Amino acid sequence: MRYVDVILPRPLDGFFTYAISSDMSSGVKLGIRVLVPFGASKTCTAMVVRMHDDKPAFETKQVLQVVDAMPMLLPQQLDLWKWIAQYYMAPIGDVYTAALPAGLKDDEGWQPKTEVYVALSDNFQNDKALAIALDMLKNATQQLKAFTHFLHLSHWDTIENNLTQLPVAEITRVELMNVSGASSAIIKALINRGLLREYHKEVGRLNNSDAEPSEKPKPLSQAQQEAYNNIVFQFLKKRVVLLHGVTSSGKTEVYIHLINKALKEKKQVLYLLPEIALTVQMTSRLKRVFGNKLGIYHSRYSDAERVEIWKKQLSTSPYEVILGARSAVFLPFQRLGLVIIDEEHEGSFKQQDPAPRYHARSAAIMLASYYGAQTLLGTATPSTESFFNAQTGKYGLVQLQTRYNDIALPEIKVVDVKDLRRRKMMNGPFSPALLAAVRTALEHGEQVILFQNRRGFAPMVECHTCGWVPKCDNCDVSLTLHKNMNQLSCHYCGFTYAVPSQCPNCNETNLRGRGYGTEKVEDLFEQLFPDAKIARMDLDTTRTKNAYERIIQDFSLGKTNVLIGTQMVTKGLDFDKVSVVGILNADAMLNYPDFRAYEQAFTMMAQVSGRAGRKGKRGLVLLQTTSPELPVIGQVVRNDYQAFYTDLLEERRLFKYPPFYRLVYIYLKHSKEQVAETAGIELGSRLRQFFSDRLLGPDKPAVARIKSLHIRKLVLKLEPSLSGEQVRQCLHYAHKEMMKDKKYATLHVFYDVDPL
Ligand code: ADP
Ligand code: ZN
Ligand code: ZN
Repeated sequence: MRYVDVILPRPLDGFFTYAISSDMSSGVKLGIRVLVPFGASKTCTAMVVRMHDDKPAFETKQVLQVVDAMPMLLPQQLDLWKWIAQYYMAPIGDVYTAALPAGLKDDEGWQPKTEVYVALSDNFQNDKALAIALDMLKNATQQLKAFTHFLHLSHWDTIENNLTQLPVAEITRVELMNVSGASSAIIKALINRGLLREYHKEVGRLNNSDAEPSEKPKPLSQAQQEAYNNIVFQFLKKRVVLLHGVTSSGKTEVYIHLINKALKEKKQVLYLLPEIALTVQMTSRLKRVFGNKLGIYHSRYSDAERVEIWKKQLSTSPYEVILGARSAVFLPFQRLGLVIIDEEHEGSFKQQDPAPRYHARSAAIMLASYYGAQTLLGTATPSTESFFNAQTGKYGLVQLQTRYNDIALPEIKVVDVKDLRRRKMMNGPFSPALLAAVRTALEHGEQVILFQNRRGFAPMVECHTCGWVPKCDNCDVSLTLHKNMNQLSCHYCGFTYAVPSQCPNCNETNLRGRGYGTEKVEDLFEQLFPDAKIARMDLDTTRTKNAYERIIQDFSLGKTNVLIGTQMVTKGLDFDKVSVVGILNADAMLNYPDFRAYEQAFTMMAQVSGRAGRKGKRGLVLLQTTSPELPVIGQVVRNDYQAFYTDLLEERRLFKYPPFYRLVYIYLKHSKEQVAETAGIELGSRLRQFFSDRLLGPDKPAVARIKSLHIRKLVLKLEPSLSGEQVRQCLHYAHKEMMKDKKYATLHVFYDVDPL
């Protein structure tokens, strides 16, 4: 063999051919990495996908170095890469970039890292030490703040100036700085005062504690056992089975039994969850049963850790079960037998930006098929696509319609906000019925979840004199007020702005926030219930590494009793003592201008309701809306998925949407609006020659400028019978022809296949 074809970790399509010297050729195998020259003076770590003797027509460069002794990629992973690149019309180089942890793509390779930790100094031997320390810091506010944060983070409880030790958490210096806002000089000062000490520790090592399982799988109830048997039976005929089980029906226990069965058959299992937040609860549940057979993999792990997990999966003792979020589909498996996709309806399985814009559910089903493995999709609210596939016989379908222990589904009461507003009876975002229910719950030591699907303080700010609304400089959107940080922020590009003291348009000081974000809900709630221990869970409060874990754990342990949050609180969390759930504003979800708005609204409402009354007493849900008459509200109240689905399907058929038609969105982005506009029209007319009225647009999307780029959008609605390959060829051809025009040199065109 004298040549290799490789994939480069660059946004480039196709394979690149390099020559190999004779002394290297014995070391070159499929799936190993090689160092190759690329561009003027650069090198990059490329992945070998083919070896051959076909001399290319062009001059080839030489492979510089063979990086691996053993393959880093198995044939099934490569098949998945190719499928993703094809189906989602993404450059295969982008798939490579997304799939491998950065440490496996860097030229330098990966090195173990050490991290600096902070701990209480040894001076804290006696009980008086805390009082002395606090006294010492009395005039050093910043140090005091950092020190207090430290105590809190590491779970030291301070009672009457004494320390009581809970299991103390280890805190890195960086984490303390992030959370407390302290500079390294402040931390240094605390060390110099003899309050804290620093120590170094190697991190990125996997948690290889030889944790033996501490629990056997729980015996299944009769309904669960029937579902389990039915799943096993259906797998005889179908590769994919959908488990439609109401919230708290005990789906997870059924999964655990299926995992157990797979492990007994010496198969590996991939368990995918849509959000990293959910892996927290699930990890401890699965760890108890599977001990150190369980590995966790997601993007919040440090790169070094991900590299190590990757390597472990290729070793002779891989994890038997991998629990992970989206990116875990890319991990190598040696004998995958079962894939579980929990909360399969979740949109966060779909990668939005950057390419490849793949859906992890579809990718995982493909991956399973390469191994001859089976896939179980589980949810209380199936996605239309999956339910359709089950109804039409492509997937098996198993229903689990009762909650574990025969606990009733929560009672859902609809609150007509319009009427209450007219009678001036709303207290901000809270109805009297909600406040009464919350009060009773808190008095009984029960917990409450409040769901508001907007973060920040006020979703919009407006001058009440002239109507001026602050907008982002880079995007065509209005800014959200974040009061805690006293900032206006753009939720599209992340830019923040100072809150102006007066209106730049009319100079009056009459700027006011409009609407309720989670921050404001928290504020108002605190005023009404000053004794409640409130936690907020949204993007803003969960930016630091362990923030999710803390919020969820504190709520589980009853350290907090009210959880206020965005869609993050609707997800499959399992809490024992939640008796009341408030859906503050159903309308915001229903009015969203997208064909999936109703599906998403139904799902979120049914899911968040499902958090109520999971143990013991029946839960209560207050659903606040200005449109109580909408059929979808009634369907949520009756938990009537079937009726909801039937209505939805009719609408989808009528308006040519999935699952009857496949959608491809084509986005064009350019810094000049005129170029984006012309390009949209031109690409549109070229594509119309192939697709005629299957092509819609170009349109200006609702947010027509993001990060200083103007956007135009074309939509393709395709009958499923059309060949994907031909569609791709037409798209690529039209695109390439158009790009010959120099004025489009910096135009960015990309595809979103099966968009959400
Ligand atoms: P789902 O995943 O369907 O929402 P879970 O699996 O979380 O439901 O189950 C809901 C609750 O019931 C959990 O706290 C779980 O521990 C408990 N549970 C479910 N099945 C069993 C069982 N067979 N034995 C004991 N407890 C169970
Ligand atoms: Zn004004
Ligand atoms: Zn912006």
